[in-house]
Amino acid sequence: MKTLRFWIISLICFTMFGIIFSTLTSSYFVTKESLIENSLEQNRVYSMKLAQMSDEAFSYMQNNLEARKSDVVKNMDNPAMITSILEQLNISGKNFNSLSVINNQGVVIATTPNLGIVGNVITSSGVNEAIARKEAFISKPYYAQTGRLLILVTTPLFGDRGDYLGMLNGTVYLEEGNFLHNILAEHYSEDGSYVFVVDTDGTLIYHPDKVRIGQSVETNLVVQKLMQEKSGALQLDNTQGKNFLAGYTYIEKSDWGVVSQTPFSSAVKPLTGIMFTIFTISLPLILIIIVIAFYVSTKLASPLRKLAIYTMRGKDDHELSFDIPTWYFEAKQLTETIDNYRKKQEETVDIMKALSVTDSLTGLKNRRYADYLLDELVNNNIAFSLIMIDIDHFKKVNDEFGHLAGDQVLHFVSKSLKNICSDQEECIRLGGEEFIIILPKKVIQEAYILGERLRKTVEDSLPPIHKKITISLGVGEYKPGENINEIMHRVDLALYEAKSNGRNITIMAT
Ligand code: GH3
Ligand code: MG
Ligand code: MG
Repeated sequence: MKTLRFWIISLICFTMFGIIFSTLTSSYFVTKESLIENSLEQNRVYSMKLAQMSDEAFSYMQNNLEARKSDVVKNMDNPAMITSILEQLNISGKNFNSLSVINNQGVVIATTPNLGIVGNVITSSGVNEAIARKEAFISKPYYAQTGRLLILVTTPLFGDRGDYLGMLNGTVYLEEGNFLHNILAEHYSEDGSYVFVVDTDGTLIYHPDKVRIGQSVETNLVVQKLMQEKSGALQLDNTQGKNFLAGYTYIEKSDWGVVSQTPFSSAVKPLTGIMFTIFTISLPLILIIIVIAFYVSTKLASPLRKLAIYTMRGKDDHELSFDIPTWYFEAKQLTETIDNYRKKQEETVDIMKALSVTDSLTGLKNRRYADYLLDELVNNNIAFSLIMIDIDHFKKVNDEFGHLAGDQVLHFVSKSLKNICSDQEECIRLGGEEFIIILPKKVIQEAYILGERLRKTVEDSLPPIHKKITISLGVGEYKPGENINEIMHRVDLALYEAKSNGRNITIMAT
């Protein structure tokens, strides 16, 4: 059967591991949640910052165009001069891949660098839109006649009388090196995070993988948000089924959106390390607690364990000390109770033992004790003599003075027996008004002498009924090898003879 100590240690171990398990589990979820939150927020702030930078770049580009458009208008019929203005613009506003002036018929007047299209009529969507709108704007990405995917930053040219003359354009080649690459490319990180830019039609304007520029990603959840001109952050599966944590910001000026995103797996990658750290920090603590638990449980269980062993070995084991450490209430109480109980039990047993061999009326030993003592003497081959005593005409005492007086006489005779007998002799009331005296290691003559002394004492003393009484005695000696009945029978016969011979005499059995 398992011990209390075992159960205490088991309980503590179970509790400890339970706590560790729940701590790790809750830490795992809380940390994961916060890593996700962090990554989302980081990407959101990042996309906002990049959007701001792009926005500023566009403003700068537009301002550059605005600053030189009056010079262009003044030299509308001087292509060489316009080319030189464009070259100056190209140096100061280095965000453009190319610059051009196109008149109100869509005819190219000048470009830089030399694209070989001067005099050509341009019918691309950007130019058509610029002629139609006659205002400054940034175009949607479109494929130009040169086959390039580009966006147009354009500002209209008006004459002195407000007549529309054409446009001053800067272009950004999306698939080639451009200012967006300068702003965004360095934000490609080793953990798989990257930035992309999309217009509100869902077309990729910038992507670290150049092949993808121009592709439509309108099914992407983030792109759909941007198409609704919203900014924020969310967790999503991208168009290639990979889970990302994305932050996105809509740029009003260009009608674009910047998305910064981190793969989910990279964002939660520190989780394993954090969990391991928590575990390794708590492990020594757990071990210390378990060692303490071992010690405390041994201390706790010790009193009960000693008590259990004590009660197992039983009270007859006198060698066993009842020295049990009791440093807490329950153990102290239990130990005291058991100790008291044990003492009481021992006392009771002693009392019961004494009672079981005592005659209640006279206080002499009873027949049970006589049987026991005679057996002991016979079994141990110890010689002894025996005196059997019977009160003469006791029935008459009862009849004349009543049963209670009879009892008083029995008491009186018992007292005479006690007075006569030494410690070596045992006085016993066999029952009724019959007594025996057992004299270990005494011969019949010694018994006879004692018997006669007793007889005379009774004869000479006055019992409580104030009327003299006498006793008759039979005396015998045990012969080794005899059984008890034989000697009892002989002594009985001697007593019978004493009665027959007139009573108040002692007869030695032959
Ligand atoms: P004998 O001389 O032949 O012995 O005559 P006896 O009257 O003593 O006769 P017997 O021994 O046969 O009688 C014993 C009587 O002792 C019978 C019973 O009434 C009485 N007796 C036995 N036990 C007790 C007792 O405990 N108390 C009292 N008061 N009387 C008892
Ligand atoms: Mg009798
Ligand atoms: Mg009698």
